[in-house]
Formats: sequence, C-alpha cells, structure tokens
Amino acid sequence: MNPRKSCEICKTYYYAKNLEGNIFMASFPTNKERCKLWVKIVGNKALAELPLIQLKRKLICQNHFTPHDFNHNKNRLKRTSFPSQNLTRPPLDDTLLESFPKPFTKITENEMKLNQYKKKCEQIVQLVQHDHNYVSQDGGVLGHGN
Ligand SMILES: [Zn+2]
Repeated sequence: MNPRKSCEICKTYYYAKNLEGNIFMASFPTNKERCKLWVKIVGNKALAELPLIQLKRKLICQNHFTPHDFNHNKNRLKRTSFPSQNLTRPPLDDTLLESFPKPFTKITENEMKLNQYKKKCEQIVQLVQHDHNYVSQDGGVLGHGN
C-alpha cells in the first residue's frame, strides 16, 4: 500500500503517488519568515509548536492555492506563494508566533527513556561503588589490621 500524506488544512489524505499526478502538494517553506506566514495562515496552533525541520515535512494540497500561485509549468509554487483558498481556521495570533520557530530539540520519547536508563545505570554504579567501599574497608581491617 502506498503511504498516504494528509493536507494540513483540509486533512484530506492523498496517496503519495499523486504527488507526481493530479494532486499537487506543497511542503512548508524552509525559509523561516515564509514558513511563519504559512503557519499563521493555516491557523493550527500545534504547527506553531514544531521546529522548522518538522514543518518542512508537512504538506498543503493544491486546493488552497490559486492558479497564479504556480509557475507557468504548474509543477511548482512561486517562491512567494502562500495558501489563500479554502482555509478552515482563522489565522493564528502573532503572540503565538513570537518564539517561532521552536528550536529543534532531540528530546523525544525514546531519548527520555534512554535518559531514565542512564540514570538507573548511574545508580547501579553508585551502589556497586558503595558496596565496593564496604568490601575494601572490611578488607582493610582484615588484611592490614596489624
Ligand atoms: Zn487541502
């Protein structure tokens, strides 16, 4: 089965094969200021929380652009184009975009689990060292008492 991609505005799913077919899907701009504008227009707060690296994997389908937004081959958007048609939400308030873009942090769920695991390892190491100290102290008393 082909992987499906959904449009961030109308939430319609399209099969990836359509990327080269009838349905054009635009990824978010990599340019910070233009990406911010798109996020503002799309009006989804959750998108404002994503770092650029994740936003550029998000897609907007062709139904949100006018014919003038495309180049004359109709296979690319013009650099300055932004979604303007069939919008489903009001634009985001600028205060929500004050710290846009969010920095890319690698603290994912897996990373957190790894950190917990590391902490446990450190605790075990401390316990072992603690035990070892006991042994060597005892050993010291027994072995070098005289
Ligand atoms: Zn759409």
